[in-house]
Amino acid sequence: MLVQTMNSTDNQIKRELWDFISEWDTIIIHRHVRPDPDAIGSQCGLKELIKATFPEKEVYATGTTVDDLEYLDEMDDVPQDLYEQALVIVTDTANIKRIDGENFKLAKQWVKIDHHPLDDSYGEIEWVNSSASSCCEMIADMWLSFPEDIKMNAKAARLLYAGIVGDTNRFLYDSTSPYTMIVASELMKFPFSHTEVNNQMNVIKPNSGKLMGFALEKFEVSDIGVGHIILTTDLLKSLGLGDSETHSIVPLLGQIEGVKVWAVFVEQSEGAYRCRLRSKGPVINEIASKHGGGGHPLASGTHAKDDKEIGEILEELKRLVLADA
Ligand code: AMP
Repeated sequence: MLVQTMNSTDNQIKRELWDFISEWDTIIIHRHVRPDPDAIGSQCGLKELIKATFPEKEVYATGTTVDDLEYLDEMDDVPQDLYEQALVIVTDTANIKRIDGENFKLAKQWVKIDHHPLDDSYGEIEWVNSSASSCCEMIADMWLSFPEDIKMNAKAARLLYAGIVGDTNRFLYDSTSPYTMIVASELMKFPFSHTEVNNQMNVIKPNSGKLMGFALEKFEVSDIGVGHIILTTDLLKSLGLGDSETHSIVPLLGQIEGVKVWAVFVEQSEGAYRCRLRSKGPVINEIASKHGGGGHPLASGTHAKDDKEIGEILEELKRLVLADA
């Protein structure tokens, strides 16, 4: 296969990582809370790669089930006592506090595979490549680096492809590199329907459509291009939607002419807000970190404990846009 791998300086750590994984009989894979397609795709895609390569190993993917993403794969029930003898791999998760589940702490060794900027260092082996579009791209890149040693199959290819499509917003975001397209095209050579995956990812519930209508009608944007919308629990309740079903409105505000950075605040049951931040240029993850969150330079998240903190975040975004002008 004639494929240039993303970053040859990464090859040593990829080799070390794969050799380390090969040593374990039981492997349990975790990912971050509130999973997105890249979290599930990297977790379950890696599980399939390991299983296809080493059918004798016991490999599990664990975490909270999200109904909207069940079309990708399902989670396994993992008995707690398995952890003592298992290797835990955590995909797509920059810091320990965002790992979904508690039992990973019972394992003797952990490995981290992630594409977020390095936040919290953890794991016996830590492979972080913040220039990769997605964690799925990294895992597919590991396969492309050692195609003789790692077996890909259609199920793994579908999962990894879905994660790349999800995290690049269908190859729209700046994080999409020429190598992202090479990886996606290599995955598409396997017999799964990329149209089915793309269509599934496009599906929105009728009430999510109504929420999108609300967001487009009610968003606010400052004269310097800071957009925002607040979604209250009352609104979400009236539409029968949960917090995890608000993701479809996040890219919408970025489509409004003049918007440079934007925030979607989703009220949580306890009265505080989840805050999803996006940018077309100014680096926003420092603002997210300052408020206890984190993420990528142009896509991050945090929390605001009340309206006052929402105001502070919006002011900080405005100062950022002015400084960037
Ligand atoms: P989201 O808006 O939830 O899709 O998140 C966008 C990015 O920010 C993802 O890469 C998340 O991993 C990251 N992120 C979101 N919320 C947090 C948080 N509370 N702490 C750290 N990173 C976060």
